[in-house]
Amino acid sequence: MTAALLQDSHGRVMRDLRVSITDRCNFRCLYCLPETEEAANFYRTRHDALRNPQPVALTPIRYEWKPKAHLLSFEEIERLVRIAVGLGVEKIRVTGGEPLLRRDVPQLIAKLAAIPGVRDLAMTTNGFLFARHAEALRTAGLRRVSFSMDSLDPVNFRKMTGRDGLAEVLAGIAQAQALGFAPVKVNAVVIRGLNDHELVPLAAFARERELSLRFIEFMPLDSGHAWKRDLVVPGREILARLRESFELLPVDQSGNPAETARRWKFAGGRGEVGIIAPVTEPFCGHCNRLRVTADGKLRTCLFSVGEHDLKPLLRGGADDAAIAQRLGGLVADKEAGHRIGQPDFVQPARTMSCIGG
Ligand code: SAM
Ligand code: SF4
Repeated sequence: MTAALLQDSHGRVMRDLRVSITDRCNFRCLYCLPETEEAANFYRTRHDALRNPQPVALTPIRYEWKPKAHLLSFEEIERLVRIAVGLGVEKIRVTGGEPLLRRDVPQLIAKLAAIPGVRDLAMTTNGFLFARHAEALRTAGLRRVSFSMDSLDPVNFRKMTGRDGLAEVLAGIAQAQALGFAPVKVNAVVIRGLNDHELVPLAAFARERELSLRFIEFMPLDSGHAWKRDLVVPGREILARLRESFELLPVDQSGNPAETARRWKFAGGRGEVGIIAPVTEPFCGHCNRLRVTADGKLRTCLFSVGEHDLKPLLRGGADDAAIAQRLGGLVADKEAGHRIGQPDFVQPARTMSCIGG
């Protein structure tokens, strides 16, 4: 008998599971896990502290990471993925926090790659540690990787990520391409006044290096709660600004309505750009994604205010059927969509680094 699919009350069938494997990170992106109070409030200070190469009076923010015992083990992750795949999930993305901070990640990748029915296994990483793990990840069965890189200017990169890591990320991207990862994606979160002047250089880089670049609207998921609508560069504006410099041809996406990015090829060139506009053009109606946090909480939406702890089942002796039933029940209640911009919008307590982007 075929198991029931994970279908919600709006008729959406879940095919995509994002698994965060750690809440820790070696970067301090100011839209995610800012290093200091000043960076967290960059919208107030961007004309002084962040514009100043030697910012003054920085107040470090201390993050409390989840204790190791709270994180799902590789065996627990493998079991959960196996159950979800039995219920129709096909795409698995390993993320974090920074997934490459977790020891022995290739071992986890090998376990997930061996699950029959996993049609697509990918990872999202800030790329700083990628080059040194690339071969092991590839051998373990990883086929796709997305890097996060918001700037090609080392000074701006540091401003945005809190680290001098641009050279390492570029080396990671080159290594991924050399090893045959395909496509190699690069995500750039666009924030007005911080990196929107780099839209064209980033797109030119994608064309030159044959990359799939994704420009992402800044979302209210930052731990500093600095998000303001006027810091969001709307997807339409991103496209218009790119079109001033490039001839862009739409990619036919009719076969995959759940894709979050609207994609464009360069006329006569290689590589592509995509625009992910969850704030100004929500795509909730086609959402087929679920998320599991590093500590084993299922989130049915990036913006869920509630989450559901699967650890008691995973650690309490529940059999696979009971876990599958629980997943089915939780998915049935998946929210229709996020409420960004609505008067009743509540920013989730967890940041993107905890939720797993
Ligand atoms: N550390 C890894 C990385 O940066 O790729 C994986 C986790 S990170 C949370 C996943 C993605 O979320 C990254 O591409 C990052 O740029 C994006 N992200 C984080 N905070 C965001 C925000 N407030 N708005 C939009 N995207 C965000
Ligand atoms: Fe770390 Fe990724 Fe968040 Fe940046 S976006 S702080 S790299 S988890």
